[in-house]
Amino acid sequence: MTRYIDVTDLSHLVARKGLTTCLEEMAEYIRQDYLRWHDFEKCARVANHSPDGVIELMPASDANLYAFKYVNGHPKNTRHGMLTVMAFGALGDVDTGKPLLLSEMTLTTAIRTAATSALAARYLARPDSRSMALIGNGSQSEFQAIAFHALLGIEEIRLYDLDPQATEKLAANLAAYPGIRLVKAASVADAVRGADIVTTVTADKACATILTPEMIEPGMHLNAVGGDCPGKTELHRDIVEHARVIVEYEPQSRIEGEIQQMPADSPVTEFWQLVNGEIEGRQAADQVTLFDSVGFAIEDYSALRYVLDVAKALEIGSEIELVPDLRDPKDLYALLQPAVTAVQKKRA
Ligand code: NAD
Repeated sequence: MTRYIDVTDLSHLVARKGLTTCLEEMAEYIRQDYLRWHDFEKCARVANHSPDGVIELMPASDANLYAFKYVNGHPKNTRHGMLTVMAFGALGDVDTGKPLLLSEMTLTTAIRTAATSALAARYLARPDSRSMALIGNGSQSEFQAIAFHALLGIEEIRLYDLDPQATEKLAANLAAYPGIRLVKAASVADAVRGADIVTTVTADKACATILTPEMIEPGMHLNAVGGDCPGKTELHRDIVEHARVIVEYEPQSRIEGEIQQMPADSPVTEFWQLVNGEIEGRQAADQVTLFDSVGFAIEDYSALRYVLDVAKALEIGSEIELVPDLRDPKDLYALLQPAVTAVQKKRA
């Protein structure tokens, strides 16, 4: 049987564990898997583009588990009452191909993206960072805010979105977290001024320049999450050129990340090299660091692994017959027999 986790199940799982614990534990699963970088079979995700969006398949596997995620990105969806990003995914047993887990991944993606952002910031942001500008106050934003508060000790979050209602929604949702001081900014520049960390998590299928060079201050850490497709960026090219750039998986980030604006040989460091200590994270207090996040399949592998472990431990979800379980594995046809007999009886 295959464990099935729908949106309600995942919400229960997060409620039972607590979102902060999920973020911390998922970040640790992600760190553990990045430590095993060379154990994974990796590829850039397969992206099918349309005028208003993209649908992507993201596979990754090691010797034990195979994971994939189906995820879309349609920035105009919210105008029609739908999410910009929706996802589901599966984990399979590499030895037999048996699917072990089929799960919602819309909530899971928001948690894993925020966990990855905060994990990267642990290596890249100044250790005394206490304030963050959060540009783009849509679906991902609460998760980013809570992750940076819980994992990095961020106390002040400066909010800005083109849509003031999105900022109001975010502020209302974060009111339940008493340790976070919120400042509603009047512009991107106002939000970014004096911030230790700047997270951009906007959705627009365009080469946007949410951040421009004059906004960047020495020692800032930039967590650029929203530019994750060809022709979809958030930062002015000069910022990317002058920052220390960290990517997840270079072959994918060259196509999809902020570095699509740069020559193919522009210097980048892959995140796993920081995690295993091969390369230093932040190298100087005044260095501007950029985590050019596009989302990589190993993070989804880790997230699904976490969801399966917790779901089993807390007995959440259901067991479904996603693939046949046969007495004679060569007699697939036998599965049809009861239905065929029933139809024949009805006709007779
Ligand atoms: P969303 O549509 O719910 O929210 C996006 C917000 O950005 C909206 O409130 C919109 O008003 C705001 N926005 C758009 N342009 C802006 C601008 N110029 N200035 C200020 N605000 C602006 O989308 P979401 O689910 O929160 O996702 C946000 C982005 O993050 C998307 O582009 C998505 O593709 C990306 N994403 C990346 C990863 C990753 O791993 N890197 C994972 C998930 C989502």
